[in-house]
Amino acid sequence: MYRNGEWVESLDKQTIQVLNPADLSMIASVPRGKSGDIDEAVMAAKTAFFSKEWKQFKPHERGYVLFELAQKIRENKEELARLETLDVGKPLKQSLSDVDAAARYFEFYAGMADKIMGETIPIENGILDYTVREPIGVTAHIVPWNYPIQISARSAAAAIAAGNAVVMKPAEDTPLTSLKLAEYFDRTNLPKGIFNVITGYGWEAGAALSSHPDINHVTFTGSQQTGRAVMEAAAKNIVPVTLELGGKSPNLLFADCELEEAVEWVVKSIIQNAGQTCSAGSRLLVEASIKDEVVAKIKERFEALTIGPGIRDYDLGPIISQKQYERIQSFIDLAEKEATIITGGKRISIEGNENGCYMSPTLIEGVDPDSELAKEEIFGPVLTVFPFETEEEAVYLANNTPYGLVTGIWTMNSKKAHRVADQVQSGQVFINNYGAAGGIQMPFGGYKRSGFGREKGLEALKNYTQLKNVALKYY
Ligand code: NAD
Repeated sequence: MYRNGEWVESLDKQTIQVLNPADLSMIASVPRGKSGDIDEAVMAAKTAFFSKEWKQFKPHERGYVLFELAQKIRENKEELARLETLDVGKPLKQSLSDVDAAARYFEFYAGMADKIMGETIPIENGILDYTVREPIGVTAHIVPWNYPIQISARSAAAAIAAGNAVVMKPAEDTPLTSLKLAEYFDRTNLPKGIFNVITGYGWEAGAALSSHPDINHVTFTGSQQTGRAVMEAAAKNIVPVTLELGGKSPNLLFADCELEEAVEWVVKSIIQNAGQTCSAGSRLLVEASIKDEVVAKIKERFEALTIGPGIRDYDLGPIISQKQYERIQSFIDLAEKEATIITGGKRISIEGNENGCYMSPTLIEGVDPDSELAKEEIFGPVLTVFPFETEEEAVYLANNTPYGLVTGIWTMNSKKAHRVADQVQSGQVFINNYGAAGGIQMPFGGYKRSGFGREKGLEALKNYTQLKNVALKYY
């Protein structure tokens, strides 16, 4: 792992095995960082943050470093994508698109590094009042396993652009591309200690990082349960957190939509990374008059999808781990008891990769809108369908979960689209599209239990700055 500009083992030399989800074979081992390792990394980051060298590092120089990172990512695009696929299991073309997004985060925030400005505020004659956006200090970044390179890039780029130091803890399942970013930073003139990656388990390294008294901000993406633990730990030190805790995002299909396009996106939005995506479109709300037609089309498409190791670029790769597979299976078991599985719900055995956990895309109908199946994040290739009769009912169902991350609205009636967009409790709303090409520039985050704070776009810079007001009397 990478601490204070050096590649180090963990203090007690213990390691964690990293498995390839395609067949659960071991592909690497990384240090098992614990609280002592976190202490050292936080100390390195704090020292670097307060150093003269960093104070003198000009904003546009931070931009150059971030831009160099983007270039290195682009130069090594194929290698990074293969590594991401080996580590996460996702199809190679999806990893390539993640790598491209990672480069774009560095480019976007590189451009912002020297444009983080304050305001002048009229008080009265003879007083000059102005604000300065200052970096917040040592920022902790706890990264999930589903989009490691993208999520590492999106928060690290914004934090460094704003002048902070970073201590990153990738997920124990997927640490490899975050370590690659460290390798690239190591080849730039970023001062030692500004970017650190400590690998380790969540309950050891993650817990130690989020509770550390010398960090000044935590960015976390992952489950609600862990988000709550991170928030509690940070609360003890009065440290602000940005939490992105997933969703149960609906696509609302009205009878007047462009049906073929809508169906194509509904399928894409649930099979991407085998449904292990925080913004997965995991609920389909469809106007009753077109429900049977839509269900038949989706069934046909689901059954035509190919499944296998990500490196061979099938439509769906494996589920990340046995633990995650079992979680999905528990929801399939519920569906067998409480609803109707129209297609899928089966473990698929792939010749030569029998240990890998492959799941067929699953379409479920007849789900009680108030059940766990309807409300909880499954995080697999599982789509539940709910018919609605009226616009009011569609909005009610859309909002009928504890989450509020993304909503897709499909209709050719623009007044209706705006009315519905107005009423859904959701951090992002897409009308007649879903995802808008990754949306590096668009603020992203949740309503309700999907979390709070916004990542991506200019908005994310607010996480990594604190505002100072200065009043100067000159008469
Ligand atoms: P998790 O939330 O436990 O893990 C996410 C990250 O948090 C990892 O880096 C992990 O090491 C770290 N972590 C774990 N415990 C910690 C602690 N006590 N303190 C600090 N950091 C800690 O997620 P999981 O258990 O791997 O997956 C469970 C469920 O979480 C999934 O089924 C899915 O529903 C959800 N999830 C959501 C996202 C998302 O993008 N929103 C990503 C991953 C998982």
